[in-house]
Amino acid sequence: MTALDLDANATEALRPAAREALLAALDVGGNPSSVHGGGRAARRIVEQARAALAARFGVAPGDIVLTSGGTEANALALHGLAAGRRVLVGATEHPAVRSAAPGATLLPVERDGTVALGSLEALLTEGPSALVCLMAANNETGVLHPLGEVAELCRRHGALLHVDAVQSAGRIGLEALGAASIALSAHKLGGVPGAGALILAPRLHLPALIAGGGQERGRRGGTEPLPAIAAFGAAVAETYDIRRIAALRDAIEAGLRRIAPEVVIAGATAPRLPNTSLAVLPGIPAETQVIALDLAGIRVSAGSACSSGKVAASPVLEAMGFGVDAGCGLRISLPWNAPEEAPARFLHAYAEMYARLSSRRASRAT
Ligand code: PLP
Repeated sequence: MTALDLDANATEALRPAAREALLAALDVGGNPSSVHGGGRAARRIVEQARAALAARFGVAPGDIVLTSGGTEANALALHGLAAGRRVLVGATEHPAVRSAAPGATLLPVERDGTVALGSLEALLTEGPSALVCLMAANNETGVLHPLGEVAELCRRHGALLHVDAVQSAGRIGLEALGAASIALSAHKLGGVPGAGALILAPRLHLPALIAGGGQERGRRGGTEPLPAIAAFGAAVAETYDIRRIAALRDAIEAGLRRIAPEVVIAGATAPRLPNTSLAVLPGIPAETQVIALDLAGIRVSAGSACSSGKVAASPVLEAMGFGVDAGCGLRISLPWNAPEEAPARFLHAYAEMYARLSSRRASRAT
């Protein structure tokens, strides 16, 4: 039986239109900066993809800087916006943001994973010129920050807002927040790794992080990865039935609660991405759970897969107050093409794993 992929937040399943666009772009080839016909054909592909992104997110094509992915888009934003500002970064932000903002002040989150608005307001009141960095949706829990309220607080206190929308774009709407910048990643929305984008507020100019040959109107040097950009444009132009995915996710959570009543779904009371569930099983390390499920043909992950295979306690769960259980969170994230039998297959494997591991846990305790 083929493995069941429930790890879409690590990389979303490839959209068929993205695959087609990628293959077509490989046939076109060429460097978009070349003046000859081949270069012009490649340029057209890049600009079509940019236009598709602009149409999907309701922005002007000229305000989109294409990058190599979400990590670079976040780094470009921080590089350009942080200078001379107090940087406030959510405690549950992805390492792509945390590492680009050394010395930033961490914004605490509530037990449900949403940013503590009172603390944000207090920090914004302390002085002007702040840059607030908050993700639209958390990669481990799927929790959505109340970005409308955050944007309003930033506006009132003259602060800039940078939003990492890598996990939310393509799954839920991207709110028009008046953000200075918004980071996107192609492989998280059905494209392939190698492309991403930073959407800038109208007329905002950011210095390049990589100057190179002046591509992207001097905002990001480097020859454009044509196939990845073509796939990015095709992926964003497509939509799918996210309510179907939400129903599958909800069926998984209902089953988990039946099988293992002590399981805690992190952030369950907060608004969340419809495809994501972080199930904390106290006393059973996430790595053990991931390996057991992998052997049963189920692909899930322990919190963030971006830590290159290293499984430690999740800083996200730590920030949410999970204490000793912060290393016991299993992330289930459904791709757009998850099969209808996904809940049944997952829950069958989980029940077997649970019976085995919890009897071991009980014998350890006696
Ligand atoms: N931001 C979030 C919330 C993510 O989940 C990830 C990757 O997991 C990134 C940024 C980095 O994106 P990329 O893999 O495109 O560099």
